[in-house]
Amino acid sequence: MIDRTLVIVKPDGVYRSLTGKIISSLEDTGLKMIASKMVRPSAELSGRHYAEDEKWLNDVGNKAIASYKEKGVNVTETPREIGMRIRQFLIDYFTSGPVVAMVFEGNEAVFVTRKVLGPTEPRKADPSTIRGRYSSDSYDLADRNKRAVKNLVHMSEDREIAEKEIALWFSKEEIVSFSRSDEEIMYK
Ligand code: GDP
Ligand code: MG
Repeated sequence: MIDRTLVIVKPDGVYRSLTGKIISSLEDTGLKMIASKMVRPSAELSGRHYAEDEKWLNDVGNKAIASYKEKGVNVTETPREIGMRIRQFLIDYFTSGPVVAMVFEGNEAVFVTRKVLGPTEPRKADPSTIRGRYSSDSYDLADRNKRAVKNLVHMSEDREIAEKEIALWFSKEEIVSFSRSDEEIMYK
């Protein structure tokens, strides 16, 4: 099924000049970039992007707790409290510099984008992914330095979230409809 996803090169990705490589890695799979812009996100936009969604706060908190437990660290905070702390780190991270926001469309765009860019913690991400190849950052180092994990990119979690995030970052007029010259060969 053809779907769309939001990809954002975070400030560390822009500062490290990795935007081109990130775009290429997605275009190489057949995904089509249908919108793009460089912005310095305001705290307001960043706060709306990382909305206080209960499921997300708990999921992020639980993921962090699992990684602390792996290291034998005792956790007293609730998943939601950890989620809220990470949310603030993320807003600080997003407002710290320029980002490049893009929409990609294609077969299973949400799924394929997450596969190509890799899982959240670069230390564990496979070196064939963008996060694993261009970073070694870890939850541990990020938490010690009181910041978000610098994992170069944001990408939507699922189709529903993708549509909400696309609407937050782009107006309808900023999204372009066109065919890649190889769509016929790839999809028909
Ligand atoms: P993603 O969808 O793979 O980006 O991961 P999530 O949606 O779960 O988390 C959003 C972002 O929060 C991640 O990309 C990281 O930058 C940051 N993050 C997630 N978990 C942690 C954590 O345990 N500690 C810190 N410091 N940052 C985290
Ligand atoms: Mg996420």
